[in-house]
Amino acid sequence: MTDSVNLNVIGTIDSPYKEKFAIPRQPGIVTAAQGQLRLTGSANNAELVRGLEQFSHIWLLFVFHGTQAQGWKPLVRPPRLGGNKKLGVFATRSTFRPNPIGMSVVKLDRIEQGFTAQDNAGQRASQVILHISELDLLDGTPIIDIKPYVPYADIIENAHGGYAQEQPNNNIKVIFSSAALVTLDNNSEHYPRLQNLVEQVLNQDPRPAYKQNKADDKIYGMTLYDFNINWQMTDISTLHVIAIEEISSNAV
Ligand code: SAM
Repeated sequence: MTDSVNLNVIGTIDSPYKEKFAIPRQPGIVTAAQGQLRLTGSANNAELVRGLEQFSHIWLLFVFHGTQAQGWKPLVRPPRLGGNKKLGVFATRSTFRPNPIGMSVVKLDRIEQGFTAQDNAGQRASQVILHISELDLLDGTPIIDIKPYVPYADIIENAHGGYAQEQPNNNIKVIFSSAALVTLDNNSEHYPRLQNLVEQVLNQDPRPAYKQNKADDKIYGMTLYDFNINWQMTDISTLHVIAIEEISSNAV
């Protein structure tokens, strides 16, 4: 019997979610979120994904690298329960787990066999990229396995979802300031789905659990791609996007 295992990272995620705040709590909620999985090391070989293009969705098993260092506790407070009830960590999808492993079903849009940018010696290496969407993953997330999503086995009719039976439906109206709309318009060529993404992310009210269903004067900030987005929720049904600012690549 062994009580520890070593796993190798097989790829890394490029995601619009550059920080933990405002990432949806499960995949499939924000359909406008698009990302890439770049295979790495000995897994960066097109043979490993031969046939995978037949599947519309894939399971990704990954490491919660952004919270791993914070350790774990046996009891956690699921945000779904307003943050004031404790449940056993294994009864939740908390990121703070004895083994910091997550699992997400994402949409597989296409598989690309491309090349990396030229290095200093002018060399380009081959690179397998899985284009994915609907993800709930932080940028840089290390992937430890990929499996095809198999509907006959993975859908269980009449399964009980406990305290999380239904997808949360906040139905919040998102209003953009005219300044925010100008930035969206100026960047529409490179980021055609950015407005949609901001809207869908904010639609689920990413504020802490204790603020849910409460108006709030605080101005919140979040980062999607290379944009800082400021917003406020002064009444419980409407959220105002105050500003969207491109983060300058020259910033220190
Ligand atoms: N779908 C996965 C699961 O069920 O295992 C993740 C569920 S977990 C509740 C989703 C949250 O994980 C997101 O809202 C985000 O804050 C966080 N998250 C995503 N990627 C992460 C990472 N690499 N490190 C730490 N936290 C991450």
